[in-house]
Amino acid sequence: MSYTVFALKWRPKNFDEIIGQSHIVTTLKSALQKNRLAHAYLFAGPRGVGKTSTARILAKALNCKEGPTVNPCGKCNCCLEISEGRSLDVMEIDGASNTGVEDVRSLRENVKFAPTMGKFKIYIIDEVHMLSTPAFNALLKTLEEPPEFVKFVFATTHPDKIPSTVLSRCQRMDFRRISVMEIIAQLEKIVKSEHINVDKEVLFAIAKSSDGALRDAESILDQLVSFSKEKISLKDVISVLGLVEQEALFAITDKIIQKDPKGTLELLNRLIDDGKDMNVFLNNLIEHFRNLMIAKVTKGDAKLIDLPQDICEEILKQSRSLSLEEIFTAFNILANTLEMAKRLDSLRIPLEVNLIRLAQDKKNPYGDEIKTTTLKEKSPVQEKEVKIGPEPPSQVINISLDNVKAAWQSIISSLSGIKMSVATYLNEGEPFKLQGNLLTISFPKSHSLHKEALERRENREIIEKSLAEALSANLRISFILSTESKSKEDEAGSHFIRSVLDAFGGRVVKED
Ligand SMILES: [Zn+2]
Repeated sequence: MSYTVFALKWRPKNFDEIIGQSHIVTTLKSALQKNRLAHAYLFAGPRGVGKTSTARILAKALNCKEGPTVNPCGKCNCCLEISEGRSLDVMEIDGASNTGVEDVRSLRENVKFAPTMGKFKIYIIDEVHMLSTPAFNALLKTLEEPPEFVKFVFATTHPDKIPSTVLSRCQRMDFRRISVMEIIAQLEKIVKSEHINVDKEVLFAIAKSSDGALRDAESILDQLVSFSKEKISLKDVISVLGLVEQEALFAITDKIIQKDPKGTLELLNRLIDDGKDMNVFLNNLIEHFRNLMIAKVTKGDAKLIDLPQDICEEILKQSRSLSLEEIFTAFNILANTLEMAKRLDSLRIPLEVNLIRLAQDKKNPYGDEIKTTTLKEKSPVQEKEVKIGPEPPSQVINISLDNVKAAWQSIISSLSGIKMSVATYLNEGEPFKLQGNLLTISFPKSHSLHKEALERRENREIIEKSLAEALSANLRISFILSTESKSKEDEAGSHFIRSVLDAFGGRVVKED
């Protein structure tokens, strides 16, 4: 997105045309009116938000034949030369280029000579943070004792990389990202004037994807105009930019709210099939949850959610189905997806895992799972120790043994849908002790075969999974033989032992 027709054509020509930076415009105008301009300004802020344009307007304001003025005429020779980038009194230096040092050196030589046409010599150094240390040192010498007629404007996307010795000699102005609504307004102006046939939702999509950089938004519009024949459709924008529609974010969040993991997964797959960029999707989804949080807290204040009113209302509506706690948790889980993706070198799998996790039907779905993941991610060795060590891990479990007992029958019946034999055998045991996340299940002494069968890893995993689903907690299980007998124990008899042996291919080695 380098050269663009619209960005050039619609570049602001005076202070009043600068979009989204009114705080800076007001300060500069006031300084011009009171003749109290600083010698050096630092324009800090993201790319494409108007730093260089503002610097040029300031140059015109100073050197216009009417100047210094807050309303440069735009017609005098000085104004025209500055607009066309050929004024001998306005030097633009690109800090990112190799010539930066040379330019700053010659700046030092020439700075003392009076301006040729205008009243001021204005040095605009773009990406000033890219200057080398020698260049900064040369610059500093000049900044210490600048001639009266010299003004500096340094523009940077990284003010943090500028030496404090330079910073302290500048008046800093922070340019902000331009809001979606402001960008839409500007794009509307352009399409109206240029007779471009386009829907408002197209402009919205462009504005959203430009991330606060008006210049980028204008150049996207440029591309779309050259790409589309008659009317620019939302489909064009979405396919050109690989965007994820707002609709998809609402839909997938609905599935999460409805606790529908299958539906969530299906939606995700559809997005992948449609060729959506999963990074964009994840970032958009995180932002969507951010908006839900803001809507929840502010009761839908549209100013803080930089989206059109109708979408704000929809967000507010959706936010009512979620608690703030659930939103925070979703936020954490989604942010965690990025971390997982870095380690796995794939985004799809972590996305699937975490979206399913979010859509799980649980009362307290996430807290302890996040902790488990963190523990495992930090050190595989530690994980191993946790599994085999005698002490339960220091994990916060919000359930009691009574909770387990209360859910016991439903756990068994859900197990019966997965593996009948496991359910049948587990039914002979009972929750005995819960310490940390270790649940001990006791069996009557005569049922040691049940215990042994269930201790097999595959069976244990099935049980642990059912427990996790029913109790929203990652429990490990262990089995003991109890001396106390259960009432059903005696009824079980040899028939039951036979079925255990059949199911697990065991044999009786010792009988009581
Ligand atoms: Zn002029």
